[in-house]
Amino acid sequence: MSGHHWQGKRVTVAGLGVSGIPAAKVLHGLGAVVTVVNDGDDERARAQAAELQAEGISVRLGDGATLPKGTELVVTAPGWKPDKPLFAAAAEAGVEVWGDVELAWRLRGLDGKEAAPWLAVTGTNGKTTTVRMLASILEAAGLKTAAVGNIGVSLLDAVLGDEKYDVLAVELSSYQLHWAPSLRAHSAAVLNLAPDHLDWHGSMEAYAADKGRIYEGNRVACVYNAADPATEDLVRAADVEEGCRAIGFTLSAPGPSQLGVVEGLLVDRAFVPDRQRQAQELAEVADVQPPAPHNIANALAAAALARAYGVEPSAVRDGLRAFRPDAHRIEHVAEVDGVAYVDDSKATNTHAAEASLAAYEPIVWIAGGLAKGATFDELVRKSAKRLRGVVLIGADRELIRDALARHAPEVPVVDLDRTDTGAMPAAVREAAGLARPGDTVLLAPACASMDMFVNYNKRGEAFADAVRELAAERA
Ligand code: ADP
Repeated sequence: MSGHHWQGKRVTVAGLGVSGIPAAKVLHGLGAVVTVVNDGDDERARAQAAELQAEGISVRLGDGATLPKGTELVVTAPGWKPDKPLFAAAAEAGVEVWGDVELAWRLRGLDGKEAAPWLAVTGTNGKTTTVRMLASILEAAGLKTAAVGNIGVSLLDAVLGDEKYDVLAVELSSYQLHWAPSLRAHSAAVLNLAPDHLDWHGSMEAYAADKGRIYEGNRVACVYNAADPATEDLVRAADVEEGCRAIGFTLSAPGPSQLGVVEGLLVDRAFVPDRQRQAQELAEVADVQPPAPHNIANALAAAALARAYGVEPSAVRDGLRAFRPDAHRIEHVAEVDGVAYVDDSKATNTHAAEASLAAYEPIVWIAGGLAKGATFDELVRKSAKRLRGVVLIGADRELIRDALARHAPEVPVVDLDRTDTGAMPAAVREAAGLARPGDTVLLAPACASMDMFVNYNKRGEAFADAVRELAAERA
């Protein structure tokens, strides 16, 4: 859609917030007649509304349900649930609904510049890490790139800003994909699929279908997880461009058209001249930080996308070596009395916690928080044999305690019975009491943090502070 199409177009932006405010400004700048609607009408919303109104953008607070008269397009914040009355009204009026990603996709090339292709990543867990690994590899190959989407540079800035990118590494959530019907990536990966956000999507099938949209129209490669057949099913279901290949990644030896691991090496048996007989070394497992199994999988997915884009093997190695994980994702905090303390506060669901619990043994596990409707039986059953002990915190700790009683009755459990922000030092102390030299104390709560902390960052910081305090005392 070129610039002049926006002149006078009546666009309703649903939701003030990280995606709505920039979307409203950009559309207004293009000459659209923008009305922002927002459910909330609190102090913060009023301040944001005042800022937009000063630029000449209409804002309607306290009513996100009614479609403004004459609306020709709705641009929604990705988090808005599809069953909202606003969307029913839009459907009735034959008005399209786009999310923030769809908007960015449609605005690519608006400035006459050739648009950078997108290498896209989704999955229940590992998206941010994989996209950042991918950007690091692309940079090592001398390409101008950015990690965009839920992280780093905003998508709108990336497609409209002054910076000219060769290629973008794009993280996409299931919500964003739901609202992005015309997105067509160069290549895309679905890392894994586990139940999450089902209250939003309505069912596991709907969640999977939204994730699967990332493969629609791919040109070069659909990258799937060979250990997670649901991701391969999504590739099969997708309508892709002629010649687009399905590429698997595996922690075992790769078959043809796969990337995998052989004797401590990451190897490529997909983007080689003769995949029946040849395999190309990309990097050593030790080049991946941290070298936990799920993270090797992330590295393989990133490598597959980079190779699909034509990146040389040496750049995969250099990019992985240069990559540093974000904070609170399996972050080694300190070693105290021979015990390692690891912060995986970002493990906010059971699938993520399962991955980090699989990376250590024996473990003293600090868990609990807001369960968001999750159950813990499978997680506890799979991890039981690695557990030296468990310390429970947070609102929904009872759910975990019950699962432990059922599947790991011999593992000692300390239930702190606390949901206050100040509980973390006590949790760390209890964990230290259970641990023996050689053990790992792992904060992998399998729950959201908001019952006790502002967010998972604050939870991780509280853990790290408490560990450092302990280290200072024992020094
Ligand atoms: P996302 O952006 O999808 O939330 P992150 O890269 O931020 O993913 O990682 C979130 C958490 O998920 C990490 O702290 C880690 O515990 C876990 N994790 C990362 N990669 C994987 C993976 N491939 N499979 C399972 N869990 C993972």
